[in-house]
Amino acid sequence: MPLNDIFITDLHGVGPKVAERLKVLGIRTVKDLIYYLPREHEDLSVITSIIDIVPNKKITVRGTIERIRSSKTRWKRMNITEACIHDTTHQLRVTWFNQPYITESLKVGDEVLLSGTVKHTKQGLNLQSPEYEKVQAHTVPTHIGRIVPKYPLTAGVTQKQLRYFVKQSLKRVLPITDHLPQSLITRYHLLPLSTALQYIHFPESVQQFQEAKKRLNFDELFIVQLAAQLVRNDMQKLRAPILQFHEKEIKSFVQNLPFQLTTAQRKTSWSILQDIQKPHPMNRLLIGDVGSGKTVVAAMAMLNAVLNGFQAVLMAPTEILATQHAQYLTQLFKKQSIRVAVHTAHRKTAHHSINTPAQLLDADIIIGTHALIQEGITFQHLGLAVIDEQHRFGVTQRKMLKEQAGKNGMMPHLLSMSATPIPRTLALALYGDLDLSMIDELPAGRKTIITKIVPKEKRFAAYEFIQKQVEHGEQVFVICPLIEPSDMLGVKSVQEEFNRLHAEVFPHLRIALLHGKMKIKEKDAIMLNMRNKKIDILVATSVIEVGVDIPNATIMLIEGAERFGLAQLHQFRGRVGRANTQSYCFLFTDSAAPNTVKRLHALTTSQNGFQLAEYDLQFRGAGEMYGTEQSGLSTTVLTALQNPSLVELSKQAAKETVKQHLIDASPPLQERVNELLRIIHLE
Ligand code: ADP
Ligand code: MG
Repeated sequence: MPLNDIFITDLHGVGPKVAERLKVLGIRTVKDLIYYLPREHEDLSVITSIIDIVPNKKITVRGTIERIRSSKTRWKRMNITEACIHDTTHQLRVTWFNQPYITESLKVGDEVLLSGTVKHTKQGLNLQSPEYEKVQAHTVPTHIGRIVPKYPLTAGVTQKQLRYFVKQSLKRVLPITDHLPQSLITRYHLLPLSTALQYIHFPESVQQFQEAKKRLNFDELFIVQLAAQLVRNDMQKLRAPILQFHEKEIKSFVQNLPFQLTTAQRKTSWSILQDIQKPHPMNRLLIGDVGSGKTVVAAMAMLNAVLNGFQAVLMAPTEILATQHAQYLTQLFKKQSIRVAVHTAHRKTAHHSINTPAQLLDADIIIGTHALIQEGITFQHLGLAVIDEQHRFGVTQRKMLKEQAGKNGMMPHLLSMSATPIPRTLALALYGDLDLSMIDELPAGRKTIITKIVPKEKRFAAYEFIQKQVEHGEQVFVICPLIEPSDMLGVKSVQEEFNRLHAEVFPHLRIALLHGKMKIKEKDAIMLNMRNKKIDILVATSVIEVGVDIPNATIMLIEGAERFGLAQLHQFRGRVGRANTQSYCFLFTDSAAPNTVKRLHALTTSQNGFQLAEYDLQFRGAGEMYGTEQSGLSTTVLTALQNPSLVELSKQAAKETVKQHLIDASPPLQERVNELLRIIHLE
């Protein structure tokens, strides 16, 4: 049976309640469990003889229970379990508090492993509230007396439970088919997959653990490299229109921009313009932190396509962003006679008269959301497809765009843009030979965004500051998180906050509300008013997160900041500081939990998206990220960072595999690659 089909409820001890809790950790199937990797291990393999015990140190002992009894103390109604054990050297007293059920599982005569700290008491040495495990004949212990895995937990799930479930899962599914060809395993001195999975959870030595880790890290990096190689191979087989570089017109376009391009923008647009002159489809990923000016780079490529008599499509993840791009590009191409059209799911009905299908097919530059592909519009002369915020699109959507476009036998060139924060060398390593451009500098003159954590008692002062800035003509975003998971769009909380700010805090300012449930017409009107400075404060849900560009906005206030990940907060913050005015980001939180404060603090000291993503990952642990959309990449990024030499090995191995067609012989390997391509996008 495929591993994905064995649900955890098949395991002993997993009822509906536990299953629900494990879901929080991203665990649904037995496969999820065996790949739910420990955060660390604790070596509890060394057994101390009772006679050798030193107080105040964590020790593990193995002995036989002489007596054990639970009773209630008279005064505090506390339950106390007292026991005495002995080994061949001595006796030891043991005490547990409020764990009366212990006497149900531990009986006189049982042999036990205990691990905990011994204290000096009036009655002598006493082992207090140790972890315990009954020794079963002919069985290796799970929790004590060995090297023990420790997993990232969630409320209501204990280490003991997880270990028990993982152990059962391993027993059930091992040995499993190895997706790596045997030749690679031999050549790169790797453990077989089954052994690696056993050792990663329950190693008997440090070396076993390290070898297991090497094998699993290799897998992770190798699959990415392999996918990149395959995607590249496929692209090379296809044909694309040659888009000649129209130097004169492009230069004049650049000269007429209201700003000077940064060196990074020049370099990246140059490589793109070079690429699209070739007869094979470009497959380039343009990475640049928020606000680095990716749109204008794409605009140059689109202009060049149009100058060659081809159409260009720009696909954005939200309607707000699509509209914004349309306005921005119309403005940029004011001097050129270029027909820009917009197409989104709602706009077509809302503005039917503006974009008739014929006009749409006739336009030079078509901007839209996924509606563009879902409705299967075929463009006859498509030369270039640009995908903004690429990570927001699924692989099928991107494939469809290509297929739609490719009906006349030619593929368009493809430019994907992303703010995914990865340093260049690492990205190159990870994406293999994929074409990559980085905009690694912000336009000159940008000031560091002053970021502050605002506790409850400083709320008022922050509002005063905002009032003052607005009086100077600046604009503000207020972001509200979802309050209840059932309220998927956060309408309730954002509405309440809007009412409160409007009625009580800023009665004299112009405040507007924006959320995902509003009609596209309303959203448009609000964004337009914001752009035209007719709104002082825009209260919004996270719909504002990606790409929105209102250069006059200088304050980003985030309510319930602790509810967001650092990468997302960094995206929010990227909505301000987009011109040369000093900008501010206020993180409002009522949480005083040290972990929250520490995490948010990182944002106040770093403006570097990559640093923050990495920090978030390390801080929240791979466990919490596991199973979420971004995780596929971010855990791999971390693996790559920590294992540069393994990156090289895996790259070499991927090249060999493609060259020798090894992948055809291994369906499990194909499955792995496909699985990865469903999560992250290499084309
Ligand atoms: P992102 O990379 O986040 O998509 P945008 O393309 O939206 O960034 O650009 C952010 C803002 O910076 C826009 O208002 C844009 O006009 C402006 N901009 C882009 N390039 C430059 C530059 N070289 N100098 C000054 N401003 C620029
Ligand atoms: Mg953008």
